[in-house]
Amino acid sequence: MAMPTQAKYVIIGAGIHGLSTAWHLAAKLEAQGQGGGQDILVVDKTAIGAGASGIACGVVRNNYYQPAMRELMAQCVEVWESDMEAFSYHPVGYMQISPESMHADVASIFEQQKAIGYESEFIEGTDDCDTYMKDILHDWQAKGITSVLHEKRGGYANNTKALYGLATKAENLGVRIMSGVEVTGFNQGHNSDAVTSVLTNKGEITCEQVVIAVGPWVNTFWNMLELPKTVDIKGPNGQMAKDIDMWRYWCLEEGTLGVEPGLQVTNDGKMPPVIHVDTDAPLYSDEDGSLITDQMWGIYYKPDLNFGGIQGGAMPYVVKTPVDEVAIDPYGPDSPDFIVGDDFAHMWCSALAFCQKRFEGKIKLWKDEPSGGLGCFTPDSFPVFDRFRENVYVIADSNHGYKMIGVGKLVADELMNGSSALLEPFRFSRYAEGKLHPTSNSPFPWS
Ligand SMILES: Cc1cc2nc3c(=O)[nH]c(=O)nc-3n(C[C@H](O)[C@H](O)[C@H](O)COP(=O)(O)OP(=O)(O)OC[C@H]3O[C@@H](n4cnc5c(N)ncnc54)[C@H](O)[C@@H]3O)c2cc1C
Repeated sequence: MAMPTQAKYVIIGAGIHGLSTAWHLAAKLEAQGQGGGQDILVVDKTAIGAGASGIACGVVRNNYYQPAMRELMAQCVEVWESDMEAFSYHPVGYMQISPESMHADVASIFEQQKAIGYESEFIEGTDDCDTYMKDILHDWQAKGITSVLHEKRGGYANNTKALYGLATKAENLGVRIMSGVEVTGFNQGHNSDAVTSVLTNKGEITCEQVVIAVGPWVNTFWNMLELPKTVDIKGPNGQMAKDIDMWRYWCLEEGTLGVEPGLQVTNDGKMPPVIHVDTDAPLYSDEDGSLITDQMWGIYYKPDLNFGGIQGGAMPYVVKTPVDEVAIDPYGPDSPDFIVGDDFAHMWCSALAFCQKRFEGKIKLWKDEPSGGLGCFTPDSFPVFDRFRENVYVIADSNHGYKMIGVGKLVADELMNGSSALLEPFRFSRYAEGKLHPTSNSPFPWS
């Protein structure tokens, strides 16, 4: 395909957000007689799925303590359910299994899921939780659990298959997707700071609107656009926290236990829900019985034919390197720095055995292949979806985002001069205005 020199809309990044935005925008332009997919160009410096979306575990859930996140996720689940085959979506459900310190938070999530009509079941008390879990998975043995939130919707999707499903829908509407086109900067107008053209390694593209959907590379683009590197944040009592870094990296740790995925079926032979366990019970090694941690810890897992085993992860860790010095490339499994090591394998496999007897003694089947990757987080670890420089829309999901397939639909509305109530709580101005989301007691930065 020849490199275009002009496109009304340039979308940077062919991950879940760039592709979903392209598809929905093309459909809306066409429906409203204002153009169509031919007005949209998606560029990616590598290829479809070269970023976080291509390595994500693919878990789709709604258990968020923050009302705004929950409502947004309910909309996203509807988009997943709209074409399960194209998105390779498996609606097996999702379980948040928690200790007493999270009981009240999860109870309130359950109440609010009921209020928005999102189907889930809530089980309380050690014995009832144990019975409920054993009714589904007979070998359940996790300790320190006092509540189970069982979301009947949600589940997981196969990461790259879903992306190609989105790309096909966009291309069928005339969207052009170009790989190997790296954005290196922007030109701006003489009398405004609006972007007039996008500079790339393959030439300049003049445009009217830019959408930045670059996942972990967002800090690079933030710098290109000369947006503030720090923010002041108004706290609950009106006090200002000054000069907080806008971005920081966390490294996500995931991997696969190379057993037959069919080892993990329910008592009646079905695919089980995605399991997420947080607990403060001590975790001991499944290899030698030594103590791994007596602090709060958490893991998630699911059988996955694509990954070829039981796939999942644990809590991420903060990358302490200053944000501008973090080596994002090569990304994901190709990174020499940000892949999981033996410590993760030991912890995660021991945690699987802690939860279910069938995983005891299986650590030797750990798939010793590179996995995991970086995520770029905002100051409060919640997304920023907003306009900057007049015509630049930034989709920065703070690593919540593979499951957020519906955000592109709402962004498309906003690009066509609408306004989305679901996106409103995620504006950049919330930091200065103190319109912050409530925080939970989960050990994960995104719950
Ligand atoms: C290991 C891991 C597991 C995860 N698991 C889950 C999960 O189970 N569920 C969930 O909901 N979320 C999960 N996430 C988070 C989720 O993957 C991300 O939030 C989401 O995929 C981000 O999507 P995106 O479209 O914004 O960016 P990406 O998918 O990262 O796409 C950005 C694209 O931009 C391109 N790009 C970058 N710079 C340039 C440039 N200069 N010019 C042109 N193109 C450029 C890249 O090549 C890339 O293809 C996980 C993340 C990681 C790292």
